[in-house]
Order: sequence, then structure tokens, then C-alpha cells
Amino acid sequence: MTGKQTNWAGNITFSAQRFHRPVSVPELQRIVAGSTRARALGTGHAFNDLADTDGDLIAVTGLPRVIEFDAPDDTVTVSAGISYGELATALNRAGRALPNMASLPHISVAGACATGTHGSGDTNGSLATAVSAIEMVTADGDLVTVSRRSDPAGFPGMVVALGALGIVTRVTLDTVQDFEVRQYVYEDLPYEQVNAHFGEIMSAAYSVSLFTDWRAPRIKQAWLKRRADSVDPPPGLARMGARLADGPRHPVPGMSPANCTEQLGVPGPWHERLPHFRLEFTPSSGDELQSEFLLPRARAGSALLALQQIAGQLAPVTQISEIRTIAADDLWLSPCYMQDTVGFHFTWISDWSAVAPVLAQVEECLRPLRARPHWGKLFTADPKVLRGLYPRLADFRRLMHDYDPSGTFSNDFLDRYLGPSR
Ligand SMILES: Cc1cc2nc3c(=O)[nH]c(=O)nc-3n(C[C@H](O)[C@H](O)[C@H](O)COP(=O)(O)OP(=O)(O)OC[C@H]3O[C@@H](n4cnc5c(N)ncnc54)[C@H](O)[C@@H]3O)c2cc1C
Repeated sequence: MTGKQTNWAGNITFSAQRFHRPVSVPELQRIVAGSTRARALGTGHAFNDLADTDGDLIAVTGLPRVIEFDAPDDTVTVSAGISYGELATALNRAGRALPNMASLPHISVAGACATGTHGSGDTNGSLATAVSAIEMVTADGDLVTVSRRSDPAGFPGMVVALGALGIVTRVTLDTVQDFEVRQYVYEDLPYEQVNAHFGEIMSAAYSVSLFTDWRAPRIKQAWLKRRADSVDPPPGLARMGARLADGPRHPVPGMSPANCTEQLGVPGPWHERLPHFRLEFTPSSGDELQSEFLLPRARAGSALLALQQIAGQLAPVTQISEIRTIAADDLWLSPCYMQDTVGFHFTWISDWSAVAPVLAQVEECLRPLRARPHWGKLFTADPKVLRGLYPRLADFRRLMHDYDPSGTFSNDFLDRYLGPSR
């Protein structure tokens, strides 16, 4: 592949000298073995330079498509570059499901898991928590398989790995019985109710997302995704002053609800309700930047109050913000590592010079609350502060040294935030 390549948002032009899209694992092995600086690329939805390299950028989306079910284990093994949308359709056909999905089904399985991508739901871990085994090409071109079963102590370090240990070729995921979901949208939930009843609101459904544009002291839309065995819309939000929407909604003002998954309580398969956006449309607004900060759930109220103080600065540069909850996990570099988490997400306008100073204010507000930035979105954290937020970082660096002693998979981003590799 030749020519300039950018990420999905178009705000990063990759600086790689060579672009590759291997169509077989042996071809990928040869490229990696012959490279001194290489990075994997999934579907390119990260908003920062995490995937970038000055050497060989290797897209995994051309690898042969694999979707292999293992019935006794209730797992599915998939090619790394497959999108959640394609996988979910195949899973659903087989009567299986994933416990959760992100807001969009367009992203690759390996790329999403590598950055700790998540959806919402008090009891739902990030997408990476479903990973039980990984096959990857390491720096010398070898193909290795690691699994939670074979290495229970080290495996939790290898899933949210930011592409630093190797190029993942296959991922094995735990699956669950398929299920149906009904999606309801409530409008205009006052902040004071959110501050007073955060726990009740976030547990009102299997997955809850609160959207605000910071222009008024209220949650503009609350999206509740309820397992379909409970038929009625959860009554709690109406008691708190919110209104059940009378038609489908898009969370970003001005965008067509036709791009979104079905609402109004119509039951449907898990994969057509858990993401907000439909696979066949552009997700979100399409012209945007994004940031997200994940902090201990118990600090949700303090974070919302702190952000309300800068609502006047946030409103002009925010298309929409989303508040979600995610269950704690044991994955060393996961922003949800060992803490039940609340995520504050920002879909910014696509003007970095206007966004950057406001992002710095958000970071200042949330730093005392020990907010961990989403690895795949924009942040400007002081690397020393960021390192202090990950208690297993030294162990992860040992894995980097073991799997990639010469720093083939390192790049400026990893050197900056995890510390220099060589
Ligand atoms: C519109 C939009 C909506 C989003 N919604 C959400 C959301 O709801 N929740 C959320 O948490 N995030 C969300 N994100 C962020 C997104 O999920 C992450 O950026 C994710 O990493 C994207 O996956 P990708 O395949 O595009 O990764 P890429 O951008 O291609 O790569 C990201 C990282 O993963 C590594 N990587 C990719 N493939 C491999 C591989 N095969 N082996 C090893 N490393 C690999 C890359 O080297 C890089 O470090 C959203 C992004 C967009 C654009």
C-alpha cells in the first residue's frame, strides 16, 4: 500500500514509511520479521497517534476471515481485523452473544480490545474482558498463542496491550446465550436528580448512557437498554422529572435518528440494540474529535459537579457528552483496572485549536479524581501522572521487554506514556 493514510477522524496522518495489508498470516510474519519498527492497525478509529509508527504500519483487516465456534467452551475465535458488527451478526445466527458492545459496531475486535474499549452497564466489563486467548506475531516473526488458561498470572497483562507486545492475528472470546433488548430514550433529566440518584439511574437497565451537551443543567437524553424479559420502560426516570421520548432520537443534535439503533421499546436482538449506531451508517457525527476519562465510580457525583463548573467553556466545543458505567476488571492497562468505573466522554467539534484548551480544563478538573484517559482518544496528561494511575505498569513493561526486547512495536506514544522502551 502506498500514499498518505489517516485515521477514521482524519486528524492523524500516519507517519509510517511503509503501509502493508497482508492477506495471510505467513505474509504478516515475514513483514514483521523484516522490520525494526512496526505497528498494527485495525479499523483506525483511535483519535490519537497510538497506532502510528515511523516504520511499517500493518493493517490486519486483510487477513483471512475467521469465525470458529467452540461449542463445549462457549467461545468463538475470530480474525483480529473483523468488525464487531460482522462478528455479532454471525454470533446471533448461532444463538450466541457478547455481553456488551461499544457505541458503534464498526471497530475491529483486536483494535478495540487493545485500547480497553467499552460500552455501558453496571455489571458489564469492557469488551476486552471477554477475551480468553490471543494469537499474535511477535517481533521476530514467530506466531504465539497465549491464554487465560495457560498463563492465568500473565494473561491479564496481554489483552489491553496497546499493540505493544505483538500483532494480534486471532482473538478467542467468551460468548453467552443470545438475548433480546428493548431500548428506551428519556429526555430532560435534571442534573440535581442525577447527582442525588446516580446509582438508581445507572442501574435502571442492563446498559445506561446519559447524554448532555452542557448547554443546560440537565441530561438531554438517557438511553436505557433493558433486557427484553422486562417489558415496561423503567419507571424511575419519569418520577425524577424526565420524559419518555415520543419518537426515535440521535444523541448528537441535528443528526438523523435513522442512523441509530431502534428505540421506543421495540424488542430486538442484542447486537441491534446495544450499540447506539447502525453498522450501515456513519456512527456518531462523523466530523469530530473525542476524549474520554474513566474514574472510580464512587467519584461520579464529584466529577459531574466539577464539570458543571466549566459548562460555559464546554458547551461551545462539545457536540455531545456521554456518561457510562463499566464494571471493574483485572486487565493491567485497562482504565477499569480493579475499579468499578464511570466514564465521562466528549464528542468535540473537529477544531483542535478550540478544543485543546478546554480539554486541558477538563483534565485539570478530573485529575484530583484519578481519572484515567481512554487510550484511544485525545488527552494531554502528564506522563508521570498517568503512569501513577496504573499499579501494574512495571509488570507490563517487563512483558514488553520479554516479548519485544528490541522495541519493534514501540512508538512515540508508548515511549511518552509508558516510558522509553530502549
Ligand atoms: C465514532 C467512534 C465511536 C467510538 N465509540 C467508542 C465507545 O463507545 N467506547 C469506547 O471505549 N471507545 C469508542 N471509540 C474508540 C474506539 O473504540 C477505539 O479507538 C478502538 O481502539 C478502535 O478500534 P480500531 O480497530 O479502529 O483500532 P485502531 O485505531 O486501528 O488501533 C488502536 C490501537 O490498537 C492497536 N491494534 C489494532 N489492531 C491490532 C492488532 N491486530 N494487534 C495488536 N494491536 C492492534 C493499534 O496498534 C493501536 O495501538 C469510538 C471511536 C469512534 C471513531
